[in-house]
Amino acid sequence: MESKKYVYLFREGNASMRNLLGGKGANLAEMTNLGIPVPQGFTVSTEACTKYYEDGKKLVEEVVDQIYNSLNELEKVTEKKFGSIDNPLLVSVRSGARVSMPGMMDTILNLGLNDQTVEGLARLTNNERFAYDSYRRFIQMFSDVVMGIDKRKFEDVLDEVKESIGAKFDTDLKSSDLKLIVNKFKEIYKKEMGEDFPEEPRKQLIAAITAVFSSWDNPRAIVYRRLNDIPGDWGTAVNVQSMVFGNMGQTSGTGVAFTRNPATGENAIFGEYLINAQGEDVVAGIRTPQPITKLKEDLPECYEQFINIASNLENHYKDMQDMEFTIEQGKLYFLQTRNGKRTAQAALKIAVDMVSEGLITKEEAILKVDPKQLDTLLHPNFDVEELKSAKVIAKGLPASPGAACGKVYFTAEEAKLHHELGEKVILVRQETSPEDIEGMVAAEGILTVRGGMTSHAAVVARGMGTCCVAGCGDIKVIEAKRTFEVNGESYNEGDYISLDGTTGYVYGQAIKTVDPEISGYFGTFMGWADELRVMKVRTNADTPRDARQAVKFGAEGIGLCRTEHMFFDEDRIPAVREMIVADAEEQRRKALEKLLPMQREDFIGIYEAMEDRPVTIRFLDPPLHEFLPTEDEDIEELAKDMGISFEHLKLTVESLHEFNPMMGHRGCRLTVSYPEIAEMQTRAVIEAALDVKKRKEYNIVPEIMIPLIGEIKELAFVKEIVVSTADEIIANSGMELKYHVGTMIEIPRAAITADEIAKEADFFSFGTNDLTQMSFGFSRDDAGKFLNDYYDKKIYDFDPFQKLDQFGVGKLVKMACELGRKTRPDIKLGICGEHGGDPSSVEFFHNTGLNYVSCSPFRVPVARLAAAQAQVKNPRK
Ligand code: ADP
Ligand code: MG
Ligand code: MG
Repeated sequence: MESKKYVYLFREGNASMRNLLGGKGANLAEMTNLGIPVPQGFTVSTEACTKYYEDGKKLVEEVVDQIYNSLNELEKVTEKKFGSIDNPLLVSVRSGARVSMPGMMDTILNLGLNDQTVEGLARLTNNERFAYDSYRRFIQMFSDVVMGIDKRKFEDVLDEVKESIGAKFDTDLKSSDLKLIVNKFKEIYKKEMGEDFPEEPRKQLIAAITAVFSSWDNPRAIVYRRLNDIPGDWGTAVNVQSMVFGNMGQTSGTGVAFTRNPATGENAIFGEYLINAQGEDVVAGIRTPQPITKLKEDLPECYEQFINIASNLENHYKDMQDMEFTIEQGKLYFLQTRNGKRTAQAALKIAVDMVSEGLITKEEAILKVDPKQLDTLLHPNFDVEELKSAKVIAKGLPASPGAACGKVYFTAEEAKLHHELGEKVILVRQETSPEDIEGMVAAEGILTVRGGMTSHAAVVARGMGTCCVAGCGDIKVIEAKRTFEVNGESYNEGDYISLDGTTGYVYGQAIKTVDPEISGYFGTFMGWADELRVMKVRTNADTPRDARQAVKFGAEGIGLCRTEHMFFDEDRIPAVREMIVADAEEQRRKALEKLLPMQREDFIGIYEAMEDRPVTIRFLDPPLHEFLPTEDEDIEELAKDMGISFEHLKLTVESLHEFNPMMGHRGCRLTVSYPEIAEMQTRAVIEAALDVKKRKEYNIVPEIMIPLIGEIKELAFVKEIVVSTADEIIANSGMELKYHVGTMIEIPRAAITADEIAKEADFFSFGTNDLTQMSFGFSRDDAGKFLNDYYDKKIYDFDPFQKLDQFGVGKLVKMACELGRKTRPDIKLGICGEHGGDPSSVEFFHNTGLNYVSCSPFRVPVARLAAAQAQVKNPRK
């Protein structure tokens, strides 16, 4: 039986084989085919990695044989022999997944050395110092990377020897010193592992390859994959490559370079190198590297050749390249090339420049910027210089991006107060709740001890575009003492701290922040995105302030205006509570009367901010307990306001307790019980629209959205109240006003019966937060507690509240669209869950044929770009 191919020589691969060979392997193969000088080698494929796991974490003989066969081929090409004393072949072992992935195993260099081959290498190169320098590096890397022995143990020995002979740099060590170091290193290995350092090169090689495969599943890699949407079943490849040496003297060296500046995007070569050095010496900061342009003086021919190849590579890949190279005794080798990582600013400049240079089309340019990256352009950042000397005191979850600096306050009231006094404040809480909203609005940044990426603090902060570090268990908050402790230090009320919501770092001092510069490139680029995309982008906004912000970011309407958020205001909550605890309709109407003018004003503000753009207003939705007074003090006060007894009110509050509020008396169910709530809200919506229409020329068509519908009769019931109320007001006004009534699709039963529901609904908006919650059967407030176990056990790869579960929840969305359109071909379809700002979910919604996505204001540019990319990848009419 012909066995499956698991190992590929570089000359057998190419760039299109990235999935099989990993990014590094595919590009080494591509460079080989382009005739670029690359040390030859072979790639053990990602399929071999998958097989390794299938076979119970074992490299089976079939794969090992193929590795040895390729090794034979490599010996022929290089005219060297693995393990030979006269002419030893040495290799590097390098991991390389489909996408570059920190957390994977580090590279091992000089593999194949042992007490005999090192002598051969010394004789062959006539350079004993070099041979032993390579050997001590190998022993350290193998011990650290493959065996997990702490590399500090080796570094300490190195430092001791250097100190004892008064050497400043590694390069000052003579071969006798290096020999001594090698012996000491081997002693460490023996002590730690209980056996001698493996002398047999083939054993070394198989151990190294196995270690790369097993590093695919180390905890760091798993976390990185989840944060970056990388599926666990991709696996990694391993590259085995013959060594070239940058540590052979003054005409040798090693370096890294970019074809353009990765920070600014400037079109000029950018990089660093070190003479007489190997591998990671450049990044390790042992000696200060030289700027790449200095190579022109040191080794002019190499420099010229390097520049030519770099520019060819950029033209070939049509993207900025990040390259690694080594020069061995005046001969240049390329060791890696890949599309370079870059800042958001650089990404925009490079994309726009490459279009004007004629290198790429606008469509190609659109695909070159990661939508998530745009975020960093919309938020303040730390001053780079000040950041360098700042000390990190704790790390939490990067819940909402941006940088913030201010004085610490521990309650929402104090945060608000000091904000009004003109201070910049950071709100530090155990966790936040809806009552903290005003303090959160006042704060530059929010720090919480508990709660995940979808906790209240995180969701609200992202919505407002406020920096937030959540779930920072490193710190201990003692609210009563107005202090928090970390590493034995206390930070008191009024002390300065700084937060980085992009990394999750907390700094125990003030760091200057700078406002983002939205450069011309940004505008040009987003203009192209808007030309290309067909799906509209709306925003979720509850206040005129958010609405205006979103319009600045390019929002084309409001897809979700949550009316309840307006109810949390300090001066309104009593009336809201009164409405909830009212025993009789009459009393409820009285409370609603108080709320009506406030709500009408809210909508007037929103209509004015949005001008002609469509606005979808959702009727009261949340579980009631979010509004109920819990403290006796508050109950007392409310009872007084309402003229009833404390005991009576307390009983009412208790009777409203729900075991599962998320699935309790909320959404349209409230209107079924208390139609007067929908009546009041309709009144506010319609009167506000008429008012603004009269004063301004805007063409307002209110879209009223009924939440939590699961049954057509439920919708029919609520709609009847809305329509009769609205029509009466419009008729009495003597004006004309069109309006739509639609529903959220957020309960699986609604999706399943969408053909029925569409009979009564002018539009659907998918509430994918609740739809996800109800499809999975776990609440987003509680899932944080156990989802980690699901990631560890590889049951789920990602958080379905952040990235839509396309397979399951997505199937419901698709089905509801098809059923809805069958009944009502022109039904308008949108989505307003958190997923509306998630690029891969946006792509799914484009492919599903939705008319728009709606997301928080700061996500609008992200969604605009993601929608354009989706159109480029899969054009829709
Ligand atoms: P990473 O993915 O962390 O960049 P690499 O596999 O690219 O790791 O290896 C890091 C460095 O090791 C390279 O930049 C190069 O300097 C050195 N290196 C790797 N393979 C070889 C080789 N065959 N010959 C010489 N140096 C090598
Ligand atoms: Mg590299
Ligand atoms: Mg909902």
